[in-house]
Amino acid sequence: MKIPVTIRNDAKCAAIAEKTYGALKKYEDCVFLCLGTGIGASVFLQGKQLTAQKNSGFEIGHMIIEKDGKQCNCGKKGCFETYCSMKRFKEQLILALNLNEKVKAPQLITILEEQHDNSKVQEIIKSYLENLLVGVSNIIDIFEPQAICLGGSFVYFKDILYDPFLKQYEQRKYVYNQETLPKIVLSNFQNDAGIIGATIE
Ligand SMILES: [Zn+2]
Repeated sequence: MKIPVTIRNDAKCAAIAEKTYGALKKYEDCVFLCLGTGIGASVFLQGKQLTAQKNSGFEIGHMIIEKDGKQCNCGKKGCFETYCSMKRFKEQLILALNLNEKVKAPQLITILEEQHDNSKVQEIIKSYLENLLVGVSNIIDIFEPQAICLGGSFVYFKDILYDPFLKQYEQRKYVYNQETLPKIVLSNFQNDAGIIGATIE
């Protein structure tokens, strides 16, 4: 028996799950960002997932946010994901706090709560949020979405990253059209979004 198989990028699958059943269900124009090992992305305009002819496209993680910045494994320097992937966030904390390299998200959250007043931790969180604000603002100015959904292992850090991010986002308004700021929502399906999305269509 021959069964046709389609291979699709994991962030694009996760985006379909959020758009069909999850956090992006009520938005026609929206962007999904998977903040995990890297940064994957997918864009929907007028309800349709945008696709490029050749490659998967929408490599928002490789948008440069700092000229001559950190070396990215794509060969360029200063890509969004070299500042805002969760891998990068974790690596910085491991280095600053001398943690075991295998530390998992729940353990890391406990450590971060305990080390809340540590100036190194505060500095890492502050610069992470500032860089995320730059990346998200660029996405908003290009696509003018109604909402952006943040997914990947970022969702585990709701209190530490998402809540303070929202506050800064609303206060600083780094976007061109300021009357209606897009909603920034968290993924409903967390790390299962990719698997769920792969079964749709
Ligand atoms: Zn890159």
